[in-house]
Amino acid sequence: LISIIDINLIASLILCANTFCMLKPDAVRDRKMGRIIDRIEASGLVIERMEMCELTRSLAEEHYAHLAAAPFFGRIVDFMTGGPVVKMVLSGPNAVAKLRALMGATDPLKAAPGTIRADFALETSSNVIHGSDSVENAEIEIKRFFG
Ligand code: ADP
Repeated sequence: LISIIDINLIASLILCANTFCMLKPDAVRDRKMGRIIDRIEASGLVIERMEMCELTRSLAEEHYAHLAAAPFFGRIVDFMTGGPVVKMVLSGPNAVAKLRALMGATDPLKAAPGTIRADFALETSSNVIHGSDSVENAEIEIKRFFG
């Protein structure tokens, strides 16, 4: 049987898990990086690692493999490889959920006012920021992008 101490330990490990964040090429191109990073830091999340880089097609295809059957898959890959991105590892209590809340919904028109996507993006196809959607995916994505 798992003891209460173990459950607390497991819960705190999940809550303190890091998350993966990426500023997409539109954020870099349109000089929104500083303002978006400001919101991330103001939220209390801590930037543990950060690097500007360009994605290869194969890395972008792997990252969006869950959308491979979508008609817009090719356009996502073109967009994500069309210019530099900024990749980050963020830490803090409940970092995965916290970043998703800061980002807002995938479609900027449906994102709540005050969220990053509502305030800095107009279209789903160029929505300025990526954030892992689960603790499990965060771990996979941090390995994918930082090795
Ligand atoms: P999220 O980025 O919010 O986790 P998804 O994993 O569903 O959302 O989609 C990944 C990315 O693919 C989105 O951020 C968006 O840039 C793009 N995308 C999703 N749906 C569409 C769509 N209907 N048309 C164009 N691009 C889309």
